[in-house]
Amino acid sequence: MDGNVLVIGAGVAGMKASLLLAGAGRRVYLLEKTSIIGGRIIRCEDVYPGMECATCMLSPMQQEVLRNDLVDVITLGEILSLEGSRGDFRAKVRRRASSVDPSACIGCAECWNACPVETGNTFEENLATRKAISIPCAGALPNVPWIDRNICARWRNGEDCTLCADACVFDAVDFTMEDETMELEISHVVVATGFDTPPGDIFEKFRWGSSAGVFTAPEFERYFSSNGPTSGELLTKDGREPGSAAIVVHPLGTGGNPAIATMYSLKFIHYLEKKLPEVKPVVFLDASYSPDPVADRHHGAWEHVNARVVRYTSAPSVSDDDGTLHIECGTADGPFECRAELLVLGTVMRPPDDTVELAEILGIPTNGDGFFEKADPLSSTALTPVPGILLAGCAGGPVDVPNAVIGASAAAGRVLADSGESA
Ligand code: SF4
Ligand code: SF4
Repeated sequence: MDGNVLVIGAGVAGMKASLLLAGAGRRVYLLEKTSIIGGRIIRCEDVYPGMECATCMLSPMQQEVLRNDLVDVITLGEILSLEGSRGDFRAKVRRRASSVDPSACIGCAECWNACPVETGNTFEENLATRKAISIPCAGALPNVPWIDRNICARWRNGEDCTLCADACVFDAVDFTMEDETMELEISHVVVATGFDTPPGDIFEKFRWGSSAGVFTAPEFERYFSSNGPTSGELLTKDGREPGSAAIVVHPLGTGGNPAIATMYSLKFIHYLEKKLPEVKPVVFLDASYSPDPVADRHHGAWEHVNARVVRYTSAPSVSDDDGTLHIECGTADGPFECRAELLVLGTVMRPPDDTVELAEILGIPTNGDGFFEKADPLSSTALTPVPGILLAGCAGGPVDVPNAVIGASAAAGRVLADSGESA
């Protein structure tokens, strides 16, 4: 049982599993729905808990994946069907047309500078715009743009626009490119589809969307990032430098365990310490939250943070007093209130929107939180109830980066163990 392997998702877990399997001589098809590899971590400046530079950690891995002859990276890809069983799966996958020849493109940016069509950039949490032909951010890998035909004037309006092609002296823009469907014979599938975060509008009651000082966690990641919309300058959305800050951790809209959100708020304290060292943030944590073993591992970290921790017994309410946020809550010691010019909303992880659809295609179940179900929910094993389909990273539920890498190694190890090899 030493066949090819399909890895779905090119985040840190998918890349790690792919490299381990390729290192053992397996051909890997690494399927990624976006135009770039790296997953959500490349949106971050630093990686929690070690606060390593995300680019320094991921860039060598991304380069290795793109250079590895045994890893076929299929960006703008999706799985259409899966048939068969362990050792003898057949997957049908589609690569959407990028309209740019990657072998001719040098990533010079002339095409998107020439493009007149602009839309919100979801990679930047819509805090910046992108063109109809674009890469998501500076330093994206592969550094090759693609044309979003949903908004491009040629496909959307039937216009004879050729501005991007005219600007490209390398003739890399190809309007005739078509979607490609491939039939893959594989022995195993590794699902490494990662996580998403709740949409900002569920935080409206905390004045997200109406106050310039309120950020969701992913927005704050991009504002802090040196390749983000403010080149890493921490400002409110109306351009003010905040002199005070607060972090509210609330498991809104999920019903899930806020352990990861609580840990995640530690990262924001470190971020604030780096960029606004004179600011001591107030951190609002749910007093009823019982740390689980994951959070326990980091329990000591709270003792030395440069922050005031407030454990609320009634959820905080936020009002806006002419640009300054007024935050109130109940605590075991009575009411508490403070003012802040910057508020970060700690968030939980949720499964990506297409998880249910993918579960149906793969024939594997999801659990109560909407992530893919593990064969043994109490174990960290990569197994699903379907032999030959394995989970890595956050596919089976929220984990931090070190555990995502461990899960990827476990999944690769399981694939190789099925044929008596070792990773
Ligand atoms: S498609 Fe052409 S113009 Fe655009 S980045 Fe590539 S080489 Fe540059
Ligand atoms: S054809 Fe025109 S609208 Fe479409 S991507 Fe190129 S420049 Fe933009």
